Amino acid sequence: MNKKLKVGWFSFSCCEDSTILFMELMNDHYEEWLKLVDFKASRILKAKNDETDLDVAFVEGAIASKKDEKKLKELRKNSKKLVAIGSCAVTGMPSAQRNEFDAEKTKEISFLVERFKLAKKVVPLSKIVKVDASVPGCPMDEKVFLKLFNDLMIEFGVKNA
Ligand code: SF4
Repeated sequence: MNKKLKVGWFSFSCCEDSTILFMELMNDHYEEWLKLVDFKASRILKAKNDETDLDVAFVEGAIASKKDEKKLKELRKNSKKLVAIGSCAVTGMPSAQRNEFDAEKTKEISFLVERFKLAKKVVPLSKIVKVDASVPGCPMDEKVFLKLFNDLMIEFGVKNA
């Protein structure tokens, strides 16, 4: 089998701890993944990224602006499968905390919302695009991620069951 799983890893509004966890998993899985996975886009891994024609887009973080909404829709178009990574991507929280602010706090932060052209509400990925699978947890549940990643390699024919 010479085919590789074409993968992209993306982060929106969040603390990026699942990305760090993903990097830590590389310590144990790099040799295997190098043979089976083409990391076409991952800003933590490489400077030159190709975000087109992906088998799987792993997406961390919640969506907090029109700009991010547009980017997420692009990723959806360019990926056969889109996976929400971590609680912020799956449920919006904790990145979406400002949705719950009272009127006073909302007013206090309004200059920042304006300055950074943010949306009124922060939303999970599924509010914008179809999500094919989710890895819950804050940060993501490592075991769920590893099983899903393995299943995707089998589903896309880069690895035998
Ligand atoms: S789910 Fe938790 S670890 Fe992941 S980005 Fe959100 S706050 Fe950070």
